[in-house]
Amino acid sequence: MNCNEMLHNCKAACCKGVTFSRETIEKHKALIPADIHIVHIKKTGRYRFVTKDDYCAFFNRGMLMCKVQDDKPKICQAYGDESNIIMTCSWMSKKGRIRSRQERRKIEREKMRQWKAAVKRISQERINEQRAIIKHKKLAKNASNN
Ligand code: SF4
Ligand code: SF4
Repeated sequence: MNCNEMLHNCKAACCKGVTFSRETIEKHKALIPADIHIVHIKKTGRYRFVTKDDYCAFFNRGMLMCKVQDDKPKICQAYGDESNIIMTCSWMSKKGRIRSRQERRKIEREKMRQWKAAVKRISQERINEQRAIIKHKKLAKNASNN
């Protein structure tokens, strides 16, 4: 997959909204600009180091390239894997075929659908966890009262 010929169109859309582990951040912290926005995602323990428009902190805007190209996080290395819709590039196929606008929209819609389903599932898991904790606390309180 040669992204160079597509960059002027896609503007490296795949470099938006990516999360990293603390280890990755520590390793490359010298490359992170000072005006970056940091979001800690409690559920996964990962971090998003992003610009105001959601680009990854390791993205070189001027040259449209990755600053940690030789040590990219696994998620970035795997991007383009078409067996997983979330990892599928909507601009170009893994073999380098430029996708039609219709195909791109279809992939983006499906990504959004799966993303929303995942958020819903995670939210429900959190609700269930909270319910279990409350139930456990009630049982413990009742037991100590008896
Ligand atoms: S993987 Fe897709 S979105 Fe990312 S730079 Fe290449 S063509 Fe653009
Ligand atoms: S680490 Fe590099 S490839 Fe991965 S999202 Fe950031 S800029 Fe893009």
